[in-house]
Amino acid sequence: MRTAFLGLMASAFVVWGCTPQRVSAPAGASAPAAGPPTAGAPAAGTAPTTGAAAAGTASTADSCSSGKPLTVHFLNVGQGLSVLVDLPNDKHILVDAGPSSSVVDSLKTTLSTTNLDWLWITHQHTDHYGGARAVLKAYTVDTFIDNGESSDKTTEEALHKLVAEKNATYVVVSPTKRQLPNLDTGLVKISLAAPSSWPVSNCDGDNANNCSIGLRLDFCKSSVLLVGDAEQAEEAQLIGTVGPATLLQVGHHGSATSTSDAFLAAVKPQYAVVSAGKPNEGMNTGYCHPREVTVDRLFRNLGNVQAGTIDAFDETGKCSKMTPAPTHWHQVPTSDRMWFTERDGDVVLSTKGDGTFQRVK
Ligand SMILES: [Zn+2]
Repeated sequence: MRTAFLGLMASAFVVWGCTPQRVSAPAGASAPAAGPPTAGAPAAGTAPTTGAAAAGTASTADSCSSGKPLTVHFLNVGQGLSVLVDLPNDKHILVDAGPSSSVVDSLKTTLSTTNLDWLWITHQHTDHYGGARAVLKAYTVDTFIDNGESSDKTTEEALHKLVAEKNATYVVVSPTKRQLPNLDTGLVKISLAAPSSWPVSNCDGDNANNCSIGLRLDFCKSSVLLVGDAEQAEEAQLIGTVGPATLLQVGHHGSATSTSDAFLAAVKPQYAVVSAGKPNEGMNTGYCHPREVTVDRLFRNLGNVQAGTIDAFDETGKCSKMTPAPTHWHQVPTSDRMWFTERDGDVVLSTKGDGTFQRVK
């Protein structure tokens, strides 16, 4: 198995205003501690990458408003998470793989190539890496990334063995190993969204959520923040480092333990997507995602007009795998910039880098 702690993207763009300027990071250069500063408009004002030597001059001919878009596919995997990112330069990153091999069926409808550049696993819970084996078998994965922690040693060892058998490079990314694998990301700057240290003493069991390794993508005026299942303990350490983001993957499937008001105030999302199962279906019978209090927080913070409702579970109810099924579900208002895979199926959002996203599926 090739284990490598590779350098930051060999080539990255840093954006001031909307004019991309190419900078190059030498192999082995350190990734920034996290994303851009908190001040300023979403995705704008990204500081130069620490340790990156400026190479070349600003390429004002490059336009963020032309060419191919950045497209983010929130795949409907039921209770779980799997997000396919299509970069404008035809690179593909899959963040998490959902709970089962059915993720491959979804990928086949959206991904036009058999190659995945990165398979990025945020943390070791089955609703995030349960489909990883099937993905590795169905696609040529260049680099497999996880946080190096373990929740189920037998499962993880088997997965890493398959990574090696498929000749994928295995890279650990964590608070102390912040270098991202090499990847030509073109006009998109990719940053690690992880705290400087885990907020929990170990990363197994329920603690694994707060050991999620997230990603931030900046494409001119548009940005995406993917946080896995980070709960409020990890969010608290991300505040002040990840900065405002246009589109937020809502942490931990819309659980009440994530997406605090303070985190939303820092991230200032304009769009939000919750990936969760339907009420009382499969694993969600024991989780009851999303929670009413979190949907309310999103609705208040996004500040848009109501568009539809979502079934969400209130905090007075006891969620457990019981018969009859929990009944504390209510239809809670949502806005036209909030999507839920349980209601909307696959949610595919696209941006040309102008600070807006359009749903294309
Ligand atoms: Zn999860």
